[in-house]
Amino acid sequence: MHSTNPQAVCVLGSTGSIGVSTLDVLARHPQKYSVFALTARDRIEELAQQCQRFSPRFAVVLDEDKAAQLRRALKSGSGSVATEVLCGVDALCRVAAHEDVAVVMAAIVGAAGLKPTLAAVRKGKKVLLANKESLVMAGPLFMAALAESGAQLLPVDSEHNAIFQCLPYPCESLDAAGVERILLTGSGGPFRTRDPGALDTVTPEEACRHPNWSMGRKISVDSATMMNKGLEFIEACYLFHAKPADIQVVVHPQSIVHSMVQYRDGSLLAQMGNPDMRTPIAHALAFPERIDSGVAALDLIAQGRLDFEAPDDSRFPCLRLAREAMEAGGSAPTVLNAANEIAVDAFLAGELPFTGIARLIEKVMKTTEVVELTDLDAVELADRNARKRALEVLEELNGVRAGEPHPQMRSM
Ligand code: NAD
Ligand code: MG
Repeated sequence: MHSTNPQAVCVLGSTGSIGVSTLDVLARHPQKYSVFALTARDRIEELAQQCQRFSPRFAVVLDEDKAAQLRRALKSGSGSVATEVLCGVDALCRVAAHEDVAVVMAAIVGAAGLKPTLAAVRKGKKVLLANKESLVMAGPLFMAALAESGAQLLPVDSEHNAIFQCLPYPCESLDAAGVERILLTGSGGPFRTRDPGALDTVTPEEACRHPNWSMGRKISVDSATMMNKGLEFIEACYLFHAKPADIQVVVHPQSIVHSMVQYRDGSLLAQMGNPDMRTPIAHALAFPERIDSGVAALDLIAQGRLDFEAPDDSRFPCLRLAREAMEAGGSAPTVLNAANEIAVDAFLAGELPFTGIARLIEKVMKTTEVVELTDLDAVELADRNARKRALEVLEELNGVRAGEPHPQMRSM
């Protein structure tokens, strides 16, 4: 299939791990895709270089200072760059929903991705979803917007992309498709075999050293606690209209099988490949075509073996917390996500021990009321309140560590 006009792509979060991999794939197919907009919160020098290389119509940053810095960098760079520099969340939403955009890569990290991603969904764009947090925090709203606008949501998260590849398309109902269950695989992260007693003292650097994948710091910590698998569990429930009981988490240390679908007739379909995000990015970008991604073919003989085991719930309480949040429904996943973002930031800042992440989230969940998510305002309110509560719990936890045991903390 040949299209004369390249498709215009907006890359939200272009300086991140997924953003950079996306630009790598796009650069391989200049006849098929053009870069319409690039956005970033920081790493302005890199953003300027990306603008020089891809000449997007717009570049969006978060505040005026960064915008001025980017304009200076673009002026001092070699060659003339006609990129218009914008700033703020509204500008992010405008470029993501712009009438000239065909494809939006949602690769901002965390809750900050929700508004621009939802703006693209509401405008009926082809949305490539890496930013799982936006779906976790606003799942029902997100899926309703999708049904209403007819936007196409293609999962980039490697597991969900694998599941998508193993299902018929379109797939409105797992039951009608003959699916018995989804097997969501996860590597178990850097601490899969670490003595649980030693987890209290692991450093952010150790937690961010993932055995198979190179990723941003937030998702690396999520992988170490397995909250990443918990968020992905919720993500899979929404994306594939699955009930919590339809999904089983399987630990697979080599990250070669990216996930599987078990059918009623005994067939188990898996999608495999080297752990490189350019494969799911290229798949989602070109679907239903297949394009070159730059990823080497998987050599199964060199790989030799593939192992599978059950996750250890006592080592990874975050997995249980995510399952409980999905079962509770309403705002519970929003609260889980918000508390996790605060906890991970605190851990990365040296203000919370690794094992404190799950303790903090559990405490926030136990002391926060679950409400219905009627609209975006309700999502934002639930998110804000959960963050406030998480900061209070963080203070309580730190009070314990600094001095005498706090009476409220004894049960934790
Ligand atoms: P990253 O930290 O490397 O990059 C994040 C990007 O978002 C950067 O461009 C950053 O400037 C921008 N950003 C950060 N905060 C922002 C804010 N408040 N407003 C606007 N922009 C902001 O993260 P990543 O590893 O590329 O992950 C991006 C998303 O993709 C996450 O949701 C993650 O869970 C998901 N994901 C990542 C991988 C991976 O391999 N890295 C795999 C699957 C899913
Ligand atoms: Mg994943």
